[in-house]
Amino acid sequence: MRTVQIQGSREKIPVGKIICIGQNYAEHIKEMKAEMPASPVFFLKPTTALVQDGGDIVLPSISRDVHHEVELTVLIGKNGKNIPQSSAMDYVAGYGVGLDMTLRDIQADAKRKGLPWALAKGFDTSAPVSDFVPTKQVSNPALLFLRLLVNGVIRQQSGTNDLIFSVDKLIAHLSQFVTLEQGDILYTGTPQGVAQVKSGDLLEASLSDAKGAVLVSLSAHVR
Ligand code: MG
Repeated sequence: MRTVQIQGSREKIPVGKIICIGQNYAEHIKEMKAEMPASPVFFLKPTTALVQDGGDIVLPSISRDVHHEVELTVLIGKNGKNIPQSSAMDYVAGYGVGLDMTLRDIQADAKRKGLPWALAKGFDTSAPVSDFVPTKQVSNPALLFLRLLVNGVIRQQSGTNDLIFSVDKLIAHLSQFVTLEQGDILYTGTPQGVAQVKSGDLLEASLSDAKGAVLVSLSAHVR
């Protein structure tokens, strides 16, 4: 799959870049024993990493420690470069929930050696993503709630009010260096509670509004 959909529309939107933000929740930075970033840390995943709702995450043989990271995802709706923060939200077509699957052992080795994270973050099936809720149905994107269940047990939950860099700040910062295009997806960083998955696990992620209503959900099986 290299397209995504907006809820209520049958249009298949081709995905351009998948831009992921690392270290965007203070509690996750603590659990990773990392330093608070002065500006957003970002990396890319190839579109071949995408997995649709209900799809499979296939554990690669190279890793013994694959982690889940539940994240708010943002679908970019129009092209922009040097986007001011004040108009950044005009570039958002919708919000979803995604999993930034991570080969933690491979990533730790890359960090130690000062090497890129591309394999740890960009392997096939490393980017399950839900459909997107249209922007107009989200009254306050700064107050959305993420939740991840693994085999029915809550593993991660947090609000977007805890993001260090908010969505408008991320768009303004990134677009200085990387042109954002319609169909690009941003993964905005994971809250605390990342942990290992095993073959047979069922991952169920959701994005809810401030009243607790589920806006969109995503499930994936680990194989
Ligand atoms: Mg992440």
